[in-house]
Amino acid sequence: MARKLKCARCGVDLEMKKIDFKYFEVEIAKEIPCCPSCGQYFIDQELAEGRMRAAEMELEDK
Ligand SMILES: [Zn+2]
Repeated sequence: MARKLKCARCGVDLEMKKIDFKYFEVEIAKEIPCCPSCGQYFIDQELAEGRMRAAEMELEDK
């Protein structure tokens, strides 16, 4: 997981932060990339499509 993302607005590297959020009544704590400057965070495609459970299993396998 060496993917570096940049904030489109600020042009600074995003930092991984643990975020708690609710998704369809399920509370999730997950590290997602956040902009340290403007606080914008980026939810990846799997999360956006509600496949976070599969994504977390992949992470734990490693
Ligand atoms: Zn930003």
